[in-house]
Amino acid sequence: MEISFAGAASEVGRSAIVIENKEKILLDYGLKLNHNEEPEYPLKVNPNHVFISHAHLDHIGAVPFLNKYGYVGNFYATDLTIDLMRVMLEDSAKIAKMEGYNVRYSRKDVRDTLNKSISVPYRKTLNFKNFSASFVDAGHIPGSAGIVIETAGKRIFYTGDLRVADTRLVNGMKEFPEADVLVIESTYAERRHPDRQAEEKRFLEAVRETVEGGGVALIPAFALGRSQEMLMILEGLKYPIYVDGMAREATSIIKNYKSYLKDGGRLSKLCSSAGFVKDNRQREQIIEEPCAIVTTAGFVQAGPSVFYIRRLCLRKNSSILIPGFQVDGSPGRQLLEHNTYNLDGENVNVGLHVDKFDFSAHGDREELLHTINKVNPEKVFVVHGDNCEKFAAELKEMGFEAHAPEIGNKFSV
Ligand SMILES: [Zn+2]
Repeated sequence: MEISFAGAASEVGRSAIVIENKEKILLDYGLKLNHNEEPEYPLKVNPNHVFISHAHLDHIGAVPFLNKYGYVGNFYATDLTIDLMRVMLEDSAKIAKMEGYNVRYSRKDVRDTLNKSISVPYRKTLNFKNFSASFVDAGHIPGSAGIVIETAGKRIFYTGDLRVADTRLVNGMKEFPEADVLVIESTYAERRHPDRQAEEKRFLEAVRETVEGGGVALIPAFALGRSQEMLMILEGLKYPIYVDGMAREATSIIKNYKSYLKDGGRLSKLCSSAGFVKDNRQREQIIEEPCAIVTTAGFVQAGPSVFYIRRLCLRKNSSILIPGFQVDGSPGRQLLEHNTYNLDGENVNVGLHVDKFDFSAHGDREELLHTINKVNPEKVFVVHGDNCEKFAAELKEMGFEAHAPEIGNKFSV
């Protein structure tokens, strides 16, 4: 049996792992999103079967492309992931068009992909001629799965993106299937997350200070997972809470999948008291009063965030509270470092309080090591990180046979 890497090799983005034993099994097929540049695709693959870990674009963004290549098989994922894929893929095609990028697949490819998607619950084993497959809860976002493939007498566990610690929204990963081969993400292999409770407290204090001072707390967040997590954290705020942008649609879907949530009906309850913002008229209205707004986009690069920043600029009592990591060169990073924002081609001094918080949905170093020790593999492949090689070298020192593959590398296992 062979394993190869068509993406996510010494990089974050375009996850695409291929397992080959008579047939080709593809795990994820994502995009690498680059700020201000066209996204990068994984290497071309002609699979016989496709499994999807979760609905973030760096894991699914290139999936409709397979339809274009002529893939006629099914796409296996959890039911929630399939539902979220529709929103994410349609939006991704729309954004590509808006930014003038080549949309490499059509809406029909998206439709065909969804029509060929089959939902699989956690822990159900699917048997195929040459292999079997099952999903475990990866604790990353609602519906996220780690994928177990058994073939040629070996068991391979691909984590997708994982979080071991619980968050407000989802339970962390609790099952660690023992495996011969582990393919593990390593986004935060080199760091430790701050204490979650202390971080939530610091965040809520910043929100309260803003609204009690009569301002608007703008919280730009990724639509899937992060936005819902922010809503859960904001529960109990005595000021109006709004949801805007793609987070609206994602939240409306996720709240109905109670079995994937840590506290089943809680999100749904929160949604009935939060306002879902529809249009610019309503946006103009809500910022007249103190409130908290959770909105896309995560890197503050597009979506309603831009509208709000334009309006809130220089309203000194408002703030931009960024709950996630900001990549180099992103507008969010610029806000944090220079307190400026590019509006109509000009860097404008926003004059707002800007701060960032760590509410990561990825496991940190300790969580990754915990996972590796539990899975206890013969071979570890470190992917989906900026320091894969370093982490693999550290694992070698701990006695594991560890590799940090380059794109296109193939290994016999
Ligand atoms: Zn993810």
